[in-house]
Amino acid sequence: MNETIYWLMRLNYDKKNKRGDMMKVWEKNIRKVVPYTPGEQPEGKDIIKLNTNENPYPPSPKVLEAKANLAKLRLYPDATAKNLVSVLAEYHGLKENQIFVGVGSDDVLAMCFLTFFNSEKPIVFPDITYSFYDVWAELFNIPYVTKALNDSFELVAKDYYGENGGVIFPNPNAPTGLIADLDFIKDVLEHNQDVIVIVDEAYIDFGGESAVSLLKEYENLIVVRTFSKSRSMAGIRIGYAMGNAELIQYLNDVKYSYNSYTMNYPSLVLGVESVKDETYFKDTVSKVVATREWFEEELTRLGFTYPKSSSNFVFATHKTVPAKEIFEAARKEKIYVRYFDKPRIDNYLRITIGTDEEMKKFVAFLEKTLGYNS
Ligand code: PMP
Repeated sequence: MNETIYWLMRLNYDKKNKRGDMMKVWEKNIRKVVPYTPGEQPEGKDIIKLNTNENPYPPSPKVLEAKANLAKLRLYPDATAKNLVSVLAEYHGLKENQIFVGVGSDDVLAMCFLTFFNSEKPIVFPDITYSFYDVWAELFNIPYVTKALNDSFELVAKDYYGENGGVIFPNPNAPTGLIADLDFIKDVLEHNQDVIVIVDEAYIDFGGESAVSLLKEYENLIVVRTFSKSRSMAGIRIGYAMGNAELIQYLNDVKYSYNSYTMNYPSLVLGVESVKDETYFKDTVSKVVATREWFEEELTRLGFTYPKSSSNFVFATHKTVPAKEIFEAARKEKIYVRYFDKPRIDNYLRITIGTDEEMKKFVAFLEKTLGYNS
């Protein structure tokens, strides 16, 4: 079985970093972790930035025109984020006590790891997935096992059966962009009724069916969303979790034991405006999806293969030219895509969908680099 088992209760950081000899006495009791590496944020003119799955379009005009009363910064923000929670509850047809908000879904997911994954049994997630999951597991000393995606990069339901300390996966998965259907999620839930199952829906607005509809049926399900992708608001840092009221209460208890005021006042105001503008949201998402469909065809023409994407990025490999070469050549031309030097995926590029104009420039770059004629 192609299964990698990690029982890393503590990282052997000193050995890895060859610092054993030089260690000061006070360093011995310091928590040492290997952090998550975020994508590059290059600055400068004429950059085509397709490396961190941001939305190429601005936030809703309602957000841009909103007037947050900055004199109010004098006060602490509303710790309960009531207005934002309320519009999100209405948007999803849930009760207010079923919504937990945080500083981007990274904050929400970290809180979920801390709150729900408190078993001695290992939690389970895919081997190729969002690379923050193992970082949180190690930070919080949560044992974990990873399950290999199959050769088509799909999650295999039966890998998630059996005793464990909880399950988490993104849907669509990242960096593959592949969606699992609701039958798959139900199957996983049916086989994991005694633990919490978290579905990270960072990219769900770009394709596929949301697991939110399953919340009625499964009290151990948590669905996590973000404003960073489909709502074009990565810079504001808003994410949220949905689940039954009891689970949300547990999340809030942990949050209020750590930092009550995570959501700043401007983000609370602007977040509400974004949720209110459904028309703009839908238009933006459909523009990204239309560009993605066009771009996938272009990739095929240029000799790439890729799992069919349901997100705002495509995970592609070329039949002859190594991904790393394309990545480096693109960078020289100020085109940034994401390359992961990791087993199984080191010949793939994750390419975020930009505007039509940006993608046309990227395709022109590929034609030139790969020696194709348009
Ligand atoms: N989940 C997945 C699968 C992601 O790719 C990302 C983006 N890095 C996040 C969560 C976190 O996004 P944010 O913190 O911006 O909401």
